[in-house]
Amino acid sequence: MRIVLLGAPGSGKGTQAKLLMAEKNIPQISTGDMLRAAVAAGSRFGQQAKVIMDAGDLVSDDIMLGIISERLSEQDAENGFILDGFPRTEQQALDLADLLDQLDKPLDTAVLMDVDFDVLMKRLTGRRTCSLTGKLLNIYFSSQGELDECTNAGGELIQREDDNEETIKNRLNVYREQTEPLIDYYRKRGKLQTVNADGSIDDVYDRFKNAIAAS
Ligand code: AMP
Repeated sequence: MRIVLLGAPGSGKGTQAKLLMAEKNIPQISTGDMLRAAVAAGSRFGQQAKVIMDAGDLVSDDIMLGIISERLSEQDAENGFILDGFPRTEQQALDLADLLDQLDKPLDTAVLMDVDFDVLMKRLTGRRTCSLTGKLLNIYFSSQGELDECTNAGGELIQREDDNEETIKNRLNVYREQTEPLIDYYRKRGKLQTVNADGSIDDVYDRFKNAIAAS
């Protein structure tokens, strides 16, 4: 199963990819997570990436191609993968198609997580991670019990640095200008499935799996 997940920041790509990864035993490849790991490692590249990510802009296509081609050649990606956050530009989509051609592993489908703008804003501004468990939470949508479970155990609810209002605005603009055209790109190639990604995580997951099964 080789899947691209499309959708605006906050559309739930990461959450849904993690569920599918656990069920189907194929890796979620999140370029955002990979870049955040480079930032945390403090490498020279990580320091440069941090400036771009803090502004909500995109890391260059050349660099992203290097990162993704290395990652897709790892053994755990042999039986499939869920790409979360890549491609983000038409050039990246073309690069990915070339890469998968070379590996003789064409993409099965691109799934668009479709959510209204006001829901995205709440999801992004409210998003937190529990410092103890890594669990993704949201101050608007998670139950008080779930939030308390983290803090009562001594954890902190951490906000991503790029989840502040100014950066979020730019990330959404960048999405509209550079990534949204990929919806047509995959539609024209007969590879697009659209999922209504508004609703509970479980409901969206059911729709997500139906979309994959129909592809
Ligand atoms: P994400 O966690 O997917 O929202 O990504 C966080 C940030 O990492 C983005 O706002 C970009 O700055 C950078 N990033 C992640 N994936 C890509 C990509 N495919 N191309 C360029 N920049 C990316």
